[in-house]
Parts: sequence; C-alpha cells; structure tokens
Amino acid sequence: MSIIDLPLLPLGKGRDLGTERGVECPGDLPSASDPTLVERARVAKEALGERLFVLGHHYQRDEVIQFADVTGDSFKLARDAAGRPAAEFIVFCGVHFMAESADILTAPEQKVILPDLAAGCSMADMARLAQVEDAWDALVDAGVAQDVVPVTYMNSSADIKAFCGRNGGVVCTSSNADAALEWAFAQKPDAPGGGKVLFFPDQHLGRNTAVLKMGLSLDDCVVWDPRQPNGGLSVEQLRDARMILWRGHCSVHGRFSADVIDELRAKDPDISILVHPECTHDVVLKADLVGSTEFIIKTIEAAPAGSSWAIGTELNLVKRLSQDHPDLSISFLDRNVCYCSTMNRIDLPHLVWALESLVDGVVVNQIEVDPDTERDAKVALERMLSLPGKSHRD
Ligand code: SF4
Repeated sequence: MSIIDLPLLPLGKGRDLGTERGVECPGDLPSASDPTLVERARVAKEALGERLFVLGHHYQRDEVIQFADVTGDSFKLARDAAGRPAAEFIVFCGVHFMAESADILTAPEQKVILPDLAAGCSMADMARLAQVEDAWDALVDAGVAQDVVPVTYMNSSADIKAFCGRNGGVVCTSSNADAALEWAFAQKPDAPGGGKVLFFPDQHLGRNTAVLKMGLSLDDCVVWDPRQPNGGLSVEQLRDARMILWRGHCSVHGRFSADVIDELRAKDPDISILVHPECTHDVVLKADLVGSTEFIIKTIEAAPAGSSWAIGTELNLVKRLSQDHPDLSISFLDRNVCYCSTMNRIDLPHLVWALESLVDGVVVNQIEVDPDTERDAKVALERMLSLPGKSHRD
C-alpha cells in the first residue's frame, strides 16, 4: 500500500487536470478593475441566448450570482442543468466536483464549463481515488471489507462517486445522509454488529449523522487517516467500528467553534444558532438548528421579524441572507471573515472571459468526465435518488 503525500489545494500552475487541484487558466483575463465588466457579461449572455445556462452556487460572490439563471446547491444545480437540454453551454459558477456532477447528469452534447479551473474544493481534494483504493485494500486485508458499504458525500470527485457505484455504495447529500446510512447498513443484514460504513470525504457530516440521527455512539466511529499506514487504525479498531470516517473536512465549516456560540449566547440569550452539518460535532451539539444550505435559507425565510440569528455557513450566503432580511438580526458565526477561497475564484473577470470566449466560438475550461467513470458514478447517484422519502439537498 502506498501513502501518497498530497499537499492540500496547491493553487497555481500546471497541476493535475483530473482532480480538484488548481491549474492555470489559459487566455487573457479581463482586468478586475475594468469598469465595463458588468456590461460585457450582459452583452455576452444576451448574444448566447438560449444556448447558454448559467448556474450559481449559493456560496458564490454577488458579482457572479447576478448573472445566474438559477441558484442553488450543487445537486439541485446539476439537475436544473439536466432539465435544460436546449442549453448547449452550461457555465457552472461553483467548484470542480459540481461541474463534474453536472457533466454526469447532462446530455453528452451539452458542454459544462468552469470559469476558473482552480476552483476546486479542499474537502473533495482530501479523498483521492488512489488513497480510497488503498483503504479498501486494507479493509480486505483486515477481513472486514465484505461488511462495509462505501458512502460518499456529494462533495467528492467523480471518480470517488464511481468507486462507490462499483463497490455497492451510494452518494449522499447533507439532507439525505441519514437515509443513505440506513440504506447502507440494511445492505449488510448478516454482518456481525449490523455492518459498517466507510464514509468520505467529510468526517463531520458522517459523525454528526451517525451519532445524532442514527443513534450510534462516538465509540462506534473511527477516523481513517489516509496519510497513516493502515489509516492509523488497528485491525481490532476496524473490526469493532460501525462508521469508518475518512479524515476530511470543509475548510470553511470546520472553522466554527463552540466557544463563539457561548460568547454569542452570553451577549444575547435569545439568539438562535443555525449551522450546517459539515461543522464539527461540538458545534452541532451546541446549535439550535442544523441543516443543509437550503434548510438554512428556508429557516431564515420563515423566521419571525425581530428574531436574532448566528449562522455557521459560507459568508457570501450569510451576507446575502442578511441583506435580504433586514427585519432580522443575522450575524456570522465566526470572529473572522471566512469565504470559501476556491468558490471565490469564480469572479467577474473569469465569467466574462468564459462567456466572451463562447461568443467567439471557443469553448474554454470544459469539464468532461470519462464514460466509464460517468457510468459508475451514475449507479451511485441513482441509488441515492431511490432513497425513500428524502429531498436531495446539500
Ligand atoms: S465550502 Fe467547503 S465543501 Fe463547499 S466548496 Fe468550499 S471547501 Fe468545499
């Protein structure tokens, strides 16, 4: 088994195009200070008309969101794109794994474009296929692989979704992770102790779902560290565990801390704490409400006037919620400003460059998933869509 030394998120030049790594954008980007950028984007979009469909993830900057035909979370946006077969070009203002999901779900003739190829996801980058295959081999060697179902969060690369498809596993979102775990355990009715799940890449979503929704204990969970031999776990630990959590996390949601919640409550006892399940377990335990970005948006839309909230999710979304709901007191659940740095790489200059290139007949930054990976990833996505009674929002 090889332990691969992977620096996280090496943004910049000439990296591995097949992954979430950063790469250089070819071509001439307009200057960020060009005062005509908004008009240039509008003109290019108008010129492309129905041939173009622009997707904007909730965590994108306002300067980009203003040009989105639809906004949403990654899976909703990929499905929205699939529902627009007349659109020849899908420009995904989001990150790399999201554009891959859109490419998987759209028709072969539709071209998915990511305006800046360096817009990866640090969490998705924490689980690489070679590492996951090494981990699976180690589970085989430990004699437990036959009891394990792999479950991957939507925020993972297409080849990890395909790995799950090939190995009897499923994709989940933050809305349906409990249904996915229930389904996964049910696949191993004869396994000792009720089966196991190998969950990646986000250990926090896996732990929060297992403990708070499935009734498992923290002792049922172990963390597989891909940088350690055998994941840093003994054979006994692997045999005893129900949840084998990949050591990955979101660099944004992992920042929120329980002591800030204590401070905010001391200042305002009526404040409600609303967080995403990618936050750490101690933060989620102290929060009043926990849910996906769509859940967070709906909760704020339904909040009574005058109520006060601290929200633990990406700052662009929190800022927009605060602007859209001036009758509420909304604060960010961190002492420091924290945007998703890779989401923020999609800015107006990159969007203008991508759109004007399309007007000129040049397709730039196309994201294409190879047919074998697409086929296997679809298997895992279709299993997710068959999960009973759940929305599929992340
Ligand atoms: S917010 Fe976190 S999970 Fe989402 S794209 Fe950024 S790093 Fe990845």
